[in-house]
Amino acid sequence: MLSRTPFSPNLLRPLSNPSSSYVASRGLLRCVNVPSNRRGLASATEPYDVVVIGGGPGGYVAAIKAAQLGLKTACIEKRGALGGTCLNVGCIPSKSLLNNSHIYHQTTHDLAARGIDVGEVKLNLPKMLAAKNASVKALTGGIEGFLFKKNGVDYIKGEASFASPTQVNVKLTEGGETQVEAKNVIIATGSEVTPFPGITIDEERIVSSTGALDLKEVPKKMVVIGGGIIGLELGSVWSRLGAEVTVVEYLGAVGAGMDAEVGKQFQKILQKQGFKFKLNTKVISAERNGDTVSLKVDAAKGGKEETLEADVVLVAIGRRPVTASLGLDKIGVEMDNRGRIIIDDQFNTSAKGVKCIGDVTFGPMLAHKAEEEGIAAVEIIKHGHGHVNYDAIPSVVYTHPEVAWVGKNEEELKAAGIKYKVGNFPFAANSRAKTNQDAGGFVKFLVEKDTDQVLGCHIIGPNAGEMIASAVLAMEYKASAEDIARTCHAHPTLSEAFKEAAMASYDKAIHV
Ligand SMILES: Cc1cc2nc3c(=O)[nH]c(=O)nc-3n(C[C@H](O)[C@H](O)[C@H](O)COP(=O)(O)OP(=O)(O)OC[C@H]3O[C@@H](n4cnc5c(N)ncnc54)[C@H](O)[C@@H]3O)c2cc1C
Repeated sequence: MLSRTPFSPNLLRPLSNPSSSYVASRGLLRCVNVPSNRRGLASATEPYDVVVIGGGPGGYVAAIKAAQLGLKTACIEKRGALGGTCLNVGCIPSKSLLNNSHIYHQTTHDLAARGIDVGEVKLNLPKMLAAKNASVKALTGGIEGFLFKKNGVDYIKGEASFASPTQVNVKLTEGGETQVEAKNVIIATGSEVTPFPGITIDEERIVSSTGALDLKEVPKKMVVIGGGIIGLELGSVWSRLGAEVTVVEYLGAVGAGMDAEVGKQFQKILQKQGFKFKLNTKVISAERNGDTVSLKVDAAKGGKEETLEADVVLVAIGRRPVTASLGLDKIGVEMDNRGRIIIDDQFNTSAKGVKCIGDVTFGPMLAHKAEEEGIAAVEIIKHGHGHVNYDAIPSVVYTHPEVAWVGKNEEELKAAGIKYKVGNFPFAANSRAKTNQDAGGFVKFLVEKDTDQVLGCHIIGPNAGEMIASAVLAMEYKASAEDIARTCHAHPTLSEAFKEAAMASYDKAIHV
C-alpha cells in the first residue's frame, strides 16, 4: 500500500441524537420523487456521521459496523441490490455453479466406483441457474431486509457523486435526486471487468465473468482468455457440464500469485480433468461469426499465428477500479496510473474526511479483504485506530480440488533473501482423504529457518479453502510450525495433513 502522511483527524461534531437518524431517513424518503433539478432535504437535517458509497462487501460491512458503533450511517448503492460484485455477479453465483456442477460431475463420473449406481443422469441447466439466482436473491435481500434494518443503516438507492468532500449528490434510482451531507465519506465503489482492447463483449458468445454465470446452454467449445482464478473457476464449471475448455494465458503459468509448485500440480490436475492450456500465448483478436467466435492467437514471444474456434469465449483478464462517475476531480482525490484511489495507512484519500476501501484501491481484489478494510476504516473514524494485517489475507480457488494459500510463496521468499524450510505432506498419505477416495494434492508449509515461524501455507486438495483458516490464524498469532504440530487434530480428518505438513517443516511427519 502506498503510504502518505495521515491528515489531521476531523473535528467531529458530537454524535446526533439517536432519534435524529429516523428524522434524517424520513427526510431522505420525502425527497425520493422530487423533480431532478431540486435538491433533497437530507442536507437540511443533521449530517450523517458516515456515508458509504457502494454496497458491496466492503461498503455494506463498513455501513453495518459504523451503525453498530453508534454512528449515524447511510449506504448509497446504484445497482438495485446490495452485496456488490461479490453477491450479485461474483463470489456467490460462481460458488453456486461450482458446487452444483461438481455434484453433477461427481454423479456422472465418480459414483459408480463408490458403489452407487444411478439411473440416467440429466443436466437441467435452467434449474441450476435458477438455484444460483435464488441464492443471490436470498443473500442480497437479507442485507437490505434484515441486516440494514436491524442495525439502523439508511439505504439510499441511487448513483452517488461528490459535490464536495462532505456533500454527496445522489441520482435516485426511482427518479429525482437528493444530496446527503456527511462528516465522513467512505468510497467503496469496487471494480468492473477489464475489457480486452479490440474485443467486444456481447455477453452471449464473447462473455465476461458476468455472462459466463448465465449461459443458456453448455458450449461445445469454450476458450478462456486468462488463466487466473476467475477464468479457471468458471472454466471448471462449464468443463464439468460438458464443454471442451481451452485456456489461453499470456504468462508461462496459471493461477496468478500461486506458489509455483502448487501451480504446476494444479495445472496437471486440471489437464487430467480435460482442460487444455495454451501458455505463453498472446490473444490478437476475437470475432463473432453468428454462433461461433474465431480467436486469433500467437506465441507470446513471436511465433506462428493460430485460429481457435469456440462457441463461447470468456474474457477473464482481470478487473479495474470503478471511479468514473464519482466526480473525484472536483474534490481532489488522487489516483495512480492504474486508476486505483491512493490512500494512506488510515484509508485516507487526498480529500479530507474521505476514506476509501476495497477493490477500488490497492491490494488483492477479494471480498474478505474489502470487508476487513471496511471494519478497520470505521474503527479509525470512531476510535482513531483500526488495522488490517495484509500479510495474512488468504486466497482460495474453488475448483476441485481447491487451492488455498496465505502468506509468502517460495518465489517471494527467495526474491526477498529470506532463509526458510519447507514441510510437505501429501493427501495420499492422509487416512480421511484416502477413505473419501479424494486424495490428490498436498499441504505445504514455509517456515522461517531459525525460528520455525510460519511464513506461508499452500494447500491443494479437498477442502483446502476451509483448512487455510487455521494457517491464517497461526500467522495472525505468529505461531511456529511446532505450535501447530503439537496441537491435537481430530482423527480421521483432512486437517491431520495440515498438522503433519507443519511437523515435516521442522522435524519429520509420522505417516510418510
Ligand atoms: C466471478 C467472480 C468471482 C469472484 N469470487 C470471489 C471469491 O470467491 N472470493 C473473493 O473473496 N472474491 C471474489 N471475487 C472478487 C469480489 O467479488 C470482490 O473483491 C469484492 O466484491 C470487492 O468488494 P467491494 O465492496 O470493494 O466492491 P464491489 O463488490 O464491486 O461493490 C461495489 C459496489 O459499488 C457500487 N457503486 C459503484 N459506483 C457507485 C456510485 N457512484 N454510486 C453508488 N454505488 C456505486 C457498485 O454498483 C457495486 O455494487 C470474485 C469476483 C468475480 C467477478
